[in-house]
Amino acid sequence: MRFLSDKSIETLKSQFFDLIDTESGVFHYQNVLKTMVKTIQKMLELDEVTLFICHAWKSQYSMGVSTNENIMEVTPSNDSSDWLSSLKTIDFSPTDKSFKDYQVLIPLVRSGRNLGVLCLKGNQTSITPSNQDWFEQFAFVCSSFVQKAQELFKIVMEEKRYKQLFRVNEKFHSTMDMDAVLGEIIYTLQEVYPSFTYYLMLSHDNDNHSELPIKDLEYDSENIAAMEAYVTGTIQMEDSLNERRSVLYAPLKGKQGVYGVLQVIAPDTLTFPSNEVEFIKLLANTAGSALENAQLYQQSKRLIADLQLINETSHRLNSNLRLTETMSYMKEQIVHSFDAEEVCFVLLSPDLKLISVLAGSTPFFETEASTAYVQYVIDRLRQEHDSIFIGDVDLNLAHNEKKFRSIMAVPMVQSGLIKGLALVMHSEPYHFSFETFKLMQSLIHHSTLAFTNSMLREELEKMVVTDHLTKLYSRNYLDTRVHESLDEDQQGTFLLIDIDNFKGVNDKYGHQVGDEILIQVADIIKSNIRESDIGARWGGEELAVYLPRIPLEVGISIANRLVDKVRELSKPSITISCGVSYWNVDNPDNFTNLFKRADTALYVAKDTGKDRVVVQEKINSF
Ligand code: GH3
Ligand code: MG
Ligand code: MG
Repeated sequence: MRFLSDKSIETLKSQFFDLIDTESGVFHYQNVLKTMVKTIQKMLELDEVTLFICHAWKSQYSMGVSTNENIMEVTPSNDSSDWLSSLKTIDFSPTDKSFKDYQVLIPLVRSGRNLGVLCLKGNQTSITPSNQDWFEQFAFVCSSFVQKAQELFKIVMEEKRYKQLFRVNEKFHSTMDMDAVLGEIIYTLQEVYPSFTYYLMLSHDNDNHSELPIKDLEYDSENIAAMEAYVTGTIQMEDSLNERRSVLYAPLKGKQGVYGVLQVIAPDTLTFPSNEVEFIKLLANTAGSALENAQLYQQSKRLIADLQLINETSHRLNSNLRLTETMSYMKEQIVHSFDAEEVCFVLLSPDLKLISVLAGSTPFFETEASTAYVQYVIDRLRQEHDSIFIGDVDLNLAHNEKKFRSIMAVPMVQSGLIKGLALVMHSEPYHFSFETFKLMQSLIHHSTLAFTNSMLREELEKMVVTDHLTKLYSRNYLDTRVHESLDEDQQGTFLLIDIDNFKGVNDKYGHQVGDEILIQVADIIKSNIRESDIGARWGGEELAVYLPRIPLEVGISIANRLVDKVRELSKPSITISCGVSYWNVDNPDNFTNLFKRADTALYVAKDTGKDRVVVQEKINSF
C-alpha cells in the first residue's frame, strides 16, 4: 500500500464525490459501488477489494461487489433492486472461509448501523497494521460514501415505487374488470420485489381466475394472521425465526369493506422493514378501492340486467298471452337468465296438493322421474310455506336416474294464497347463486298476477264455451266452429243426437237420474271423438257432434259407434237416435240446411224404431 497519508484520504474523498454525480440523472447503485472498490484497488495498489453488504432488514451479509469478477456469483444487471435481492446471503463470522483470504477487514458502520464489510487483499508487506489512524479515517470515508450511496439508492427506489403506484392507480381507474385489478397487483409486486412470493386470499370467491395465485380465505384456525387482517382491516405480520421468513398480510380494503387479503412472503428475512410495509399497504388499499369499484360496477350491471328481465317479463305476461304461452315464455326466460336445466310450473289446490304440472314446463316433467322432485318441493312448501333454496339435495333416487342437486322453488302467491309454484333445477351442486335465487323470487312475485290472470281468463273462456252440466261445448261455440269449417275445409259431417224416450226416464227415475244419463251420454261422446271434433249440447236432451274434414262414411261409423256404446254402457240403460248430414266442396251447404237435414234424418230414425242412425245425404231431398 502506498501513500498512507492524509493526502490520499482527500484524494479518495474527491474521487468518491465524483462517483455520485447524478447530473446525468441516472443512478446505478451496483455500478457506483463497483467503481468505488475499483478506485480503492487502484489507489492502494491492491490485488482485490470486495465489499460485503449488510442488508438493512436481514442482519445478514452477502457478497456485493468485487474487483475480482471471478468470485461474483451474480452477473451485473440493469436494475439495482433486482441485483440486490438476488444476492445470496451468508453468515458473517471472521473465521468464515469467505473472509479468510483477506488481510484487512474494515467494518463500515454509520450511526450505529452496520452497512457492510470492506475486504482488502494485497501484498502482505504493504498493508501495515501500524497505520491504525489512517485506517480509521479510511473506514470513515468509505462508510460515509456507502451510506450516501444507499440513501440515494433508497430515494431512487422510492421514486420508482411511487411511479409504479401511480401507474397502478391509473390502470385501476381505467378498468372495471376484477381479474385485471388482481393481476395488476401481482404484476406490480413482482416488479418491485421480485424475490417475494404473493398470494391473493379471497373470500367467497367462485369466479374462475385464469392464472392468478389465488387462495381461498377460509374461516379456519390455520391462518390466524390472515383472518385477523381480514376482520380488523389492519396489516398483520408473521415472522418465523425457524423458517427464516417473514410473512405479511395486507387487507384489500375499500370504503365499504374488506375484499380479501394480500399475502406477501419474504424469504430469508426476519422482519419486514417499515417503508416496505408502507408501500405494500398503499398498494393494497388502492387495490381494495379498485376491487370495490369493480364489484360495485358488476353489481350494478347485474341489477340493471335483473330489472330488465323483470320488466320485460312483466310486460310480456301482461300482453294477454294464453296460459301455455305465458308459461313457455317464463320457462325460456328462466333457462336463459339462470342457466337452469329444468323448469316446471305446478298448480296447487288451496290445501297445497298437486293439481297439475302446467304445460310450458320442460319435457322432463312429463316423465315419471320428475315426480320425486315435484313431490319433495310440495312437501317442503307445505311445512315451510316459503321459497326453497338448496345447493346439494339428495333424494335417494336409484343410481340410474338423472340427479338434480341444485334446486330453487318459489311459491306463486296471489292475495295471500299459494296458487302454485315454480321449480328450477340443475344437476351441478351449488349451481345457483343466492343472487339468482333472489332474482327468481322477484321474477315469480312479479309474474304471479299475470299468471293467475291468464288462468282465470282461460277458465272464464271455457265457462262461456262449455255447457255446465255435460261439459260439452255450448251451442254458440258449435255454431262458430261449423261456420269456420264451412269456410275453410273441403268437407264435414254433422250428427244430431236425441235420447230416446227421455221423458219416460225422467218420469221413472226422476230428474236427477235423467241428468246423470245426460252426463253419461256426453262422456261417451267425448271419449269416442277426437280433440279436433266438436261435441256440443244442442239444447235439452239433444246433443250434436260436428266432425270437420271427416268424410261421410267415417261420420256414419262414428255415429253407429256412439249409438252402440250408449246402448251398452248407459246405466240405467237407454238408447239414442242419430241423424247424419254431410257436405263437401262439390255439394256446398250452409249451416241452417246442414242442421235441418240432420234433424230430418233424426225424425226418420225416431219414426222407424229409434236406437239407430239415419243419413240425410241429398242436399235438396227434404
Ligand atoms: P223421443 O224418443 O221421441 O225423443 O222421446 P222423448 O221422451 O225423449 O221425447 P222428447 O225428446 O221430445 O222429450 C224431451 C224431454 O227430455 C223433455 C224433458 O223432460 C227432458 N229433458 C230435456 N232436457 C233435460 C235435462 O237437462 N235434464 C233432464 N233430466 N231431462 C231433460
Ligand atoms: Mg228431444
Ligand atoms: Mg228424446
